[in-house]
Amino acid sequence: MNNSREEEQKETSSSTDPQVLCTHVELINDVTPSSQGCEECLKIGDEWVNLRICLICGKVGCCDNSKNKHATRHYHETGHPIIQSFQPGETWRWCYVDEIMLSEE
Ligand SMILES: [Zn+2]
Ligand SMILES: [Zn+2]
Ligand SMILES: [Zn+2]
Repeated sequence: MNNSREEEQKETSSSTDPQVLCTHVELINDVTPSSQGCEECLKIGDEWVNLRICLICGKVGCCDNSKNKHATRHYHETGHPIIQSFQPGETWRWCYVDEIMLSEE
């Protein structure tokens, strides 16, 4: 059989695509934002810096620069591993488990 083809594929997948390392992308749903601001901060009347959205359930939470860090707290409470920036024009995603940045397809 021809082995060179297999090697070629390996090289391609290990090059620039971090998504191959992250199996959690399979959990991503077509979510609707739960809120236009951080849901938990709005409840307690607090403020946030930037927003993140959980791509598993659509919960909007605040980033780690915000004092309440609700996006990260949501991950610890639910185990939902992937968030995306909810800032206009930003499409990057982050996997908490693998601690890698994922680019949007
Ligand atoms: Zn992952
Ligand atoms: Zn918050
Ligand atoms: Zn979630």
